Amino acid sequence: TFKAIRIDKAEKGTVAALTQFDEAELMDGDVTVGVEWSTVNYKDGLAVTGKAPVVRRFPMIAGIDLAGTVLKSENPDWQVGDKVICNGWGMGETHLGAYAEKARVKGDWLVRLPDGLSTRDAMAIGTAGYTAMLSVLALENHGLTPAAGPVVVTGAAGGVGSVAIAVLSKLGYHVIASTGRIAEVPYLRELGAAEVIERSELSGPGKPLAKERWAGGIDSVGSTTLANVLSMTKYRGAIAACGLAAGMDLPTSVAPFILRGVCLLGIDSVMCPIELRQLAWLRLASDLDKGKLAEITHEINLDEVIAAGAKVLAGEVRGRIVVKIC
Ligand code: NAP
Repeated sequence: TFKAIRIDKAEKGTVAALTQFDEAELMDGDVTVGVEWSTVNYKDGLAVTGKAPVVRRFPMIAGIDLAGTVLKSENPDWQVGDKVICNGWGMGETHLGAYAEKARVKGDWLVRLPDGLSTRDAMAIGTAGYTAMLSVLALENHGLTPAAGPVVVTGAAGGVGSVAIAVLSKLGYHVIASTGRIAEVPYLRELGAAEVIERSELSGPGKPLAKERWAGGIDSVGSTTLANVLSMTKYRGAIAACGLAAGMDLPTSVAPFILRGVCLLGIDSVMCPIELRQLAWLRLASDLDKGKLAEITHEINLDEVIAAGAKVLAGEVRGRIVVKIC
């Protein structure tokens, strides 16, 4: 047996606890990974608190994100001792997840740890940071450059937002960070935000078109915030939409799209093709400053994950949490 955070069905909803898990109960897969580090993402918060039906198989080991070392492999691409990252693909939702000393997964899901990143660095970045990088890649693919104008990052002090600011500023963008936590202004400036605006400026019901303020952006908030961000995007600009921290709705109009040629770029990290994942992790190794990553990261142990999940949902966590597994 090994240590794991297990989620079971309860009379009402679900219950999560740190307990022992039997290796024989691990699901099918051709690679067994010794998990060294994990993290607490927004979706992990939903799973461990039971606030949303993220978990669709019981018992479940929670955790959507892991980094560690291959212990056993029947997959020709992976050898014992290889350092790997695995995130998404239904881990912690339909496949037993990351908050455990061991995980058995499909070799096709794994990304090789890039040179220059430790397994701890990879989880300090985690799904949130990798999603921020997928968003940057989508904006670059659209043709965005720093010369086009400022970029906006919403949910700035959160995990996606913090990494997005650090990467975009390193790439030379003028970053406008939107936050509800004005006390975090010094932190956001330290990460590289050139300007910080109040979340409320973007959260009210807006006009279909407003004054053009940015050429691009990364939105992890959704709802009226994304609608306002779109209405303030410059002619032929683009916004990468990756989150729903304020809601799943999008009360917008076609005006930004048909009158300003604005593009809305959808970002999914869970089923993202492996080649794009590899590229995103390589770019994180080269375009995320290590000092800034340290500034963003806060370390906890496995027995603190459930409480941390509730804090993430309450919007009380700054940046990224990295979880020491063993
Ligand atoms: P997080 O660390 O909790 O950050 C979310 C941030 O959003 C908060 O720090 C807060 O930033 C802001 N926020 C929270 N509630 C809000 C509200 N009611 N109105 C406006 N802003 C609010 O979470 P995360 O891990 O960065 O994830 C962010 C979002 O991206 C989540 O919705 C998550 O599910 C999603 N996500 C999607 C993918 C994908 O594959 N598409 C991958 C990873 C994450 P401030 O305090 O600075 O305002």
